[in-house]
Amino acid sequence: MPAIVDPTTMDYMEVKGNVHSTESLACLEGPGNRFLLFLNGCAARCLYCSNPDTWDETVGTPMTVGQLIKKIGNLKNYYINSVGGGGVTVSGGEPLTQFGFLSCFLYAVKKHLNLHTCVETTGQGCTKAWNSVLPHTDLCLVCIKHAIPEKYEQITRTKKLDRCLKFLKELEKRNIPWWCRYVVLPGYTDSKEDIEALIELVKNSPTCERIEFLPYPELGKNKWEELGIEYPLKNIKQLKKSEIKWICDMVREAFKDRNIPVTGDT
Ligand code: SF4
Repeated sequence: MPAIVDPTTMDYMEVKGNVHSTESLACLEGPGNRFLLFLNGCAARCLYCSNPDTWDETVGTPMTVGQLIKKIGNLKNYYINSVGGGGVTVSGGEPLTQFGFLSCFLYAVKKHLNLHTCVETTGQGCTKAWNSVLPHTDLCLVCIKHAIPEKYEQITRTKKLDRCLKFLKELEKRNIPWWCRYVVLPGYTDSKEDIEALIELVKNSPTCERIEFLPYPELGKNKWEELGIEYPLKNIKQLKKSEIKWICDMVREAFKDRNIPVTGDT
């Protein structure tokens, strides 16, 4: 791939990506009803990953941008007529891994379907990936793995918080809103100190519009076993929504003047 991908300089409809799966009608990954595209490829190795089958970039079903645009075009009314204004969300894996394809895909979604575009990411990846993808992105769902550097590395095992913070600054520079997604993992991300650090991180980012707490996805365990990889979190139980109410309340209180919705406990 060239330094920065500019879809206008190529036959972008013919560019191929490795697709893990698609979902035609999702409603939790961004505003309104959404088409969800999961791309293969992720170099982070999060302790609780529920999709280790997306890690390998070279597998998946090869699809062109044109094939996906046709598929989404047939369903367009489900998205544009939904409350909140729907659109397309790309997740993974880490979608920035296939940034050339992603840039062409998002460009085509806007040009041919005029739909809202959203990328769910860890906020990692190289600068040329950011420069290729962000010009065609309306919203990012940024998975903040932790807000304390050493603990961030303990969870992702290959990535650093500092890179994610730079990504948030890049969003701010481009005035792209983001939603914070934070997995509550007992013993790793749920102490008062952890949440205070998260509050501080979000306070430093004026483009954050929403904070979502997600229970640690215990179900991923079976996929690790199927792939023959040892699961590192054997004895940790998924928390109930009521058990993270104190976290949501603490964060709501911290942002009561900024009108940021906080979800996860209902
Ligand atoms: S960033 Fe997401 S896909 Fe990648 S290892 Fe972590 S949880 Fe899994």
